[in-house]
Amino acid sequence: MNVYDSWRIAAMLDARGMEQTDSVADADIIILNTCSVREKATNKVFSELGRIRDAKKPNALFGIVGCVAREAGATAFHRMPDLNFVLGPQSYHKLPQILENPDARLLNIDLSGLEKFDEMPQMVTAPVVSYIPIQEGCDHCCTYCIVPYTRGREISRPFADVMRDTLHAVKTGAFEICFLGQNVNGYKYTDGNGKTYHLSDLIRETAKIPHLYRIRFTSSYPTEMTDDLIEMFKTEPKLLPFLNMPIQSGSPDVLKRMNRPYSLDSYLEIIDKLRAARPDIQISSDFIVGFPGETDADFEQTLKIAKQVRYINSYSFKYSPRPHTAAALMPDQIPENIKRERLAILDNTLNEIQREFNETCVDKTFTCLCEGSDKTGRHLLYRTPYMQQCIVQNRDDSSAIADIKITAANRASLRGKDVTLK
Ligand code: SAH
Repeated sequence: MNVYDSWRIAAMLDARGMEQTDSVADADIIILNTCSVREKATNKVFSELGRIRDAKKPNALFGIVGCVAREAGATAFHRMPDLNFVLGPQSYHKLPQILENPDARLLNIDLSGLEKFDEMPQMVTAPVVSYIPIQEGCDHCCTYCIVPYTRGREISRPFADVMRDTLHAVKTGAFEICFLGQNVNGYKYTDGNGKTYHLSDLIRETAKIPHLYRIRFTSSYPTEMTDDLIEMFKTEPKLLPFLNMPIQSGSPDVLKRMNRPYSLDSYLEIIDKLRAARPDIQISSDFIVGFPGETDADFEQTLKIAKQVRYINSYSFKYSPRPHTAAALMPDQIPENIKRERLAILDNTLNEIQREFNETCVDKTFTCLCEGSDKTGRHLLYRTPYMQQCIVQNRDDSSAIADIKITAANRASLRGKDVTLK
């Protein structure tokens, strides 16, 4: 979501005749887009702002946007008096105000919902893989999570707006779209005629767009994987056979304290249904280790479920207490060294499963999408339907979509040969 937000901000500045530069010292405006989901990222923000302040031109405008901006609010100006603007994740469309009035300070951390999507210009050229936000915010209130506070209550964009943005992206260069939302499968929009649309409706309609080759969505909440959505994996071949569906923990006790209202059985049942709909589907997950009160036995259950589901690609994090969340106040916070140890063990397990899955791909052929080339230009970087990176020799006749036969694999990437070429 932050990558997408940054694209839109860049498009807005482009439309005002500005250009991007790699050098802070050259820039007339510097915007640090920030994430506050975990403590580590938040802690880096003010030291990074200090570095920017020291490197920038004296009259260059600089500020922060995103969730740390919302969290810090006016205190950001106390901590960093040189800042020109502080804009929350739903108010960065107010940025032109500071360009028009550079001597003022701009603070806006409102949760205004959808305004930003309409007020910002579209990108002139869409990236090959284009993100399309369909909803923002989250109503689930997991006890560890700051998202409901920083991004607000759940709100879904109008169906027609999403269709318009998707068509625009495909017309201007997108081959793949990824629907985005903090609770993407909770998408629910009722139009003026009382017709309600869900994510499955969006997938069905966008799949009809010619020259759109691949569709995916992130991130999903397990109990919102409804049957109509699961059915899409059976009926829409453009929907990739890959799904991020975070389980967070394999311990029923921890899940309860996280306020994640599913049992292991009901979670596994969803996976069974997905596999019945699309036998080649693979799943990825997010995990939190060291949640307050997590025992060795709880952690063992997380390792067990990881091995049972065989997630092919996952994100794992040490629990970090966040402001405004219930878990931050829970007793039995886990010491840092135990969190670190558990994370290393889980990462080893997940990496091993990923390597084994990648090895099973050797000799198989997948239709892949080219996302760019390596630094030398000698190799193209393709993505398989499972989001694995695959390195392929660059040729003059290479194309964006190609059938790639996998020739070698390690944990992090694959190598392959373009078999659509003679
Ligand atoms: N559904 C949201 C989740 C965002 S956070 C979205 O995709 O936008 C992504 C992941 O960060 C979560 O799935 C969770 O595993 C992790 N996370 C969230 N809060 C955390 C915390 N306080 N400590 C550690 N990890 C956390």
